[in-house]
Amino acid sequence: MKVMKFGGTSVGKPERMHQVATLITNETEPKIVVLSALSGTTNALSEISHQLSLGYKVPAKQKIDALETYYKNFIETLVVTKEGKDEAEKIIGEHFEFLNIILKISYSDALNKDILAQGELLSTKLFCVYLREKNIAHTFLPALEFMCIDENEEPRLERIVRRLNALLKDAKDETIFITQGYICRNAREEVDNLKRGGSDYTASLIAAAINASVCEIWTDIDGMHNNDPRVVDKTLPIEQLSFEEAA
Ligand code: ASP
Ligand code: MG
Repeated sequence: MKVMKFGGTSVGKPERMHQVATLITNETEPKIVVLSALSGTTNALSEISHQLSLGYKVPAKQKIDALETYYKNFIETLVVTKEGKDEAEKIIGEHFEFLNIILKISYSDALNKDILAQGELLSTKLFCVYLREKNIAHTFLPALEFMCIDENEEPRLERIVRRLNALLKDAKDETIFITQGYICRNAREEVDNLKRGGSDYTASLIAAAINASVCEIWTDIDGMHNNDPRVVDKTLPIEQLSFEEAA
């Protein structure tokens, strides 16, 4: 069994999501597929949360509505059938209803974590709608049922192993499992996360927990480069570097 993780830009456009479906069906080895939120979503959610923490409900509501429009446009190209569109709209409806409800309740750190979790919940559920439309058999593995951290925010590997393997055992003939990166439960069993960029960490923890043959991190850049390719032209990947150099 292997682990394949796809980052925000790899699922950030409907056609990129289609490509992910091709990549995960290319070979037959069973796999757990870890997805991030669509690029830009976690930043948007974090801004919404920040505005709510300051009591700025009007701009928060505007951002929620803009994000909802973005997702509605996204599914227009993601799926083509009426059933697919209905299913995807229902998912968007549920998650944005939640975001609209939080406008009315008092802000807390736990609520912040709930808000931040919406991105990965949306990306994985919408991806599964597309897989169903394409008749690609798969099983949805809710990360909140197995990924967990302790009171020091460190992963509880033993518990992850136990919970994840129990879920996998329930579906032993399946070959494609879809789960969320980043999100987890904390020591109080509340929704929490593995910190920004944490989806890679999710993938590594899963790979360790299932003793995976390989953990593939699919991303828009082929490793650590000698400069920031968003700023500098023709950067090159560095083949080997120490933790200190990377940091
Ligand atoms: N979506 C989360 C973030 O943007 C986690 C991740 O992408 O790894 O930080
Ligand atoms: Mg990312």
